[in-house]
Amino acid sequence: MEVKIIKPFKGEFPISQKFGEAGEWYVKIVGYPHNGMDFAMPTGTPVLACDDGVLSYADNVPDSDGLGINISHEWGLSQYWHLSKLAVKYQEKVVKGQKIAESGATGWATGPHLHFGIKVNGQGLPNMRGWCDPSPFFDKVITTEPPAENNPRSHTVTRGETLWGIAVKYYGKGYLWSRIYEANKKIIKNPNLIYSGQKFLIS
Ligand SMILES: [Zn+2]
Repeated sequence: MEVKIIKPFKGEFPISQKFGEAGEWYVKIVGYPHNGMDFAMPTGTPVLACDDGVLSYADNVPDSDGLGINISHEWGLSQYWHLSKLAVKYQEKVVKGQKIAESGATGWATGPHLHFGIKVNGQGLPNMRGWCDPSPFFDKVITTEPPAENNPRSHTVTRGETLWGIAVKYYGKGYLWSRIYEANKKIIKNPNLIYSGQKFLIS
């Protein structure tokens, strides 16, 4: 069957981590590369069901997914993590586009974002434990990458600073911290741990 899903939110939010991206620290903790897409969005943003289905899992796992749910679909399942609030109950039927939760930053999250993953029956990647890249299954092309700027600057970290705080300083938006992380992956091993004296490229 042809799978056509909608993006699980209204409006535009930047992709803060793509499917399959293998942050060293992430692989170390999870055991394999990123199994979904992360969209940076403020806590409380309505999260929508990507297709018709039934809520087949709802739990709060503080050490990893945070508050998370799965929806079973005819074609497989979709998964939503780091939520702040649920709007549906376990085993409840949902329709495409229905509000199922509000986004948040529960579990392993450096900042507020939605982790969205799918498993399409028969199309899962073996090295990703059955997870698929959601991008080709959306009904519309997702164009939510943060705009590139072309005046590189550098920032020297001072005591007590966070990637979030540095992103606010340069971009005006804390959730764009991943841009700094992406540009400085050689230096930043774990985005939760940055040290005074480190010099980051701000692109
Ligand atoms: Zn994620």
